[in-house]
Amino acid sequence: MSASNPWTRSTLPIIGTAMNDKSMCQACKRHISRGQVRIGVIFHHLNGYIALDWHHLTCCETPDLLPQVEGYELLPTQAKDQVSTYIQQYQVLSI
Ligand SMILES: [Zn+2]
Repeated sequence: MSASNPWTRSTLPIIGTAMNDKSMCQACKRHISRGQVRIGVIFHHLNGYIALDWHHLTCCETPDLLPQVEGYELLPTQAKDQVSTYIQQYQVLSI
């Protein structure tokens, strides 16, 4: 990241489920369907703006962190199941 970039990426993402079909994953550029788990990466601008980049659960590269991120406790049980299943798959793949 260059020094002139006014955006700072927040270290902690947030997690939630998509309310509609309108959010787009910034990793694969495909839409996130309603009800799917999505991960939001927060960017803070020097001027005080905040931007949020959404990602599919399956496009998230740090699934191990997800149970600690903001919003996880508020997820419906079914969504938590999706997250824990993905974490397990991810751990198997990275061994
Ligand atoms: Zn994606």
